Amino acid sequence: MLSQMAEPPDIFGKQYILTAGPTPLPPSVSAVMAEPILYHRAPAFVEIYSRVLARLPLVFQTTNDVLCFAATGTGAMESAAANLIAPGEPAVIASCGKFGERWAELCDAYGADTHRVDFEWGEKVEPAALDEALAALDRPPRAVFATQSETSTGVVNDIRALNEVVTGRGSVLCVDAVSGLGAVDLPQDEWGVDVVVAGSQKSLMCPPGLAFASVSERAMALAAERARGRYYLDWGRAAAGQKEEPPNSAFTPAVTLFRALDVALDLLLAEGLERAFERHALLARAARAGVDALGLERFGPEDESANVVTVARLPDDVDGAKVPKLMRDSYGVTIAGGQGHLKGKIARIAHCGYYGAFDVVIALTALEMALRDLGHEAEAGSGVAAAQRVFAEAGAAPTPVG
Ligand code: PLP
Repeated sequence: MLSQMAEPPDIFGKQYILTAGPTPLPPSVSAVMAEPILYHRAPAFVEIYSRVLARLPLVFQTTNDVLCFAATGTGAMESAAANLIAPGEPAVIASCGKFGERWAELCDAYGADTHRVDFEWGEKVEPAALDEALAALDRPPRAVFATQSETSTGVVNDIRALNEVVTGRGSVLCVDAVSGLGAVDLPQDEWGVDVVVAGSQKSLMCPPGLAFASVSERAMALAAERARGRYYLDWGRAAAGQKEEPPNSAFTPAVTLFRALDVALDLLLAEGLERAFERHALLARAARAGVDALGLERFGPEDESANVVTVARLPDDVDGAKVPKLMRDSYGVTIAGGQGHLKGKIARIAHCGYYGAFDVVIALTALEMALRDLGHEAEAGSGVAAAQRVFAEAGAAPTPVG
C-alpha cells in the first residue's frame, strides 16, 4: 500500500568510488553476474573456466599456470607463505608499508624465522640494502617477500632490481602485486620472478573474492619438498586440478566471479596491457599535477612508475581524518585516508582498474571542496585545471570501455 511505503529513495545519492580496491566495476562485468548461477561441472561453466585460465597468464606475462583460489588477495599471499615457509627456517621481508608488514605477519604465523628489512613508509625498498641484509644471514632464505605497489603509501618498488638481488643470492622472490597487476608493468617471465600474487578487485576490475598465484616451476618444486601444513592453499593440489583437460578444481570455483573475470579479461585484453599501463601512467600524471596545483605536498618519491595510487600529504591546518569522511558524506566521493601511523595525515586517490580521466577530475574536485570546507584555502579549480592540462598535452582523456 502506498501509505506504507518507505521513504522515497535518495536520487541525489550518486556515489563515486576512488579507492584502490574494491574498484568500480565496468557495467558489463556487473551485468554478467546477474545471470543465473552455473553448476561448476556444467559445460557452460567449464568453457568459461578454461577461457579464464588460458588468458590469466597473459596478464601475468608468464607461461605458468595462474593458480586460482576463492579468497581475497591476502589468501594468495598466504598461499605463498603456506607453500614456501618451513617452521624455524629464515624468511626475509623487504617492507616499506602496511602490505609489506602483512608478509611479515604471515611468515610469523607459519613459524618462520622472520627477518624484516624495513624501510620508512613512503620510501622504496633499496635493492643494495636488501642485498646487504641477505649477505649478512648465516643461511639464505628459501624465499624473500616484497610488494610491487605498496598501496598504503603509493610507492611502487623496482621489482626487476629486487629480483636480481634475490635470485643472485639463490632465493626465490614472492611479489605481492595485488594492487599493481594490470596497472604497472611486471613481465614475470622476462624478469624471472618466481612468484607473483594478486587479487581480483583492483586493476582486474572485478569484485573481491578471487586470489591468484603465478608460480614458477622452481617455486613449485620448492613447495613440493615440504608438502605438509596446508590443504586448501596447496599449490600442488590447485595446479593438478587446473592442468586437467578440461581444467578441474578440487573445490567449487567461485563461479559468478569467474564469469565476471571472463568479461573483465575481454575488456583488459581488448585494450591491451601496454595501453592499460599507458592509461594508468597518464591518470597518475594528471593526479600528481592536480595535487601539486592544490598546493599539497605529495607523499613518496618522485616516480613516473607510481601509477596505482596518488598520495597527498594533508595540510597541518586541517583535521586530516575528516577529509575522506567529508568527501564521502558531503560529496559522495570515496577515497582512502592513511593507514596505521599515517591515519589522518594523507589522502590516497586511486586510479587502478576501471578509471578514466574524469574519475581523477572528480577526486581532485571533491578533495579541493573538502579542504575548503575545513578552512584550508586552495585556489578554486586549480587542481582540476592542472589535470586537464596534462590530458590536453597528452592529447587524450581516457574513458575506459565498460
Ligand atoms: N596487498 C596489497 C598491495 C593490497 O593493496 C591489498 C589490499 O588492499 C592487499 C595486499 C590485501 O588484499 P585483500 O584485502 O584483497 O586481502
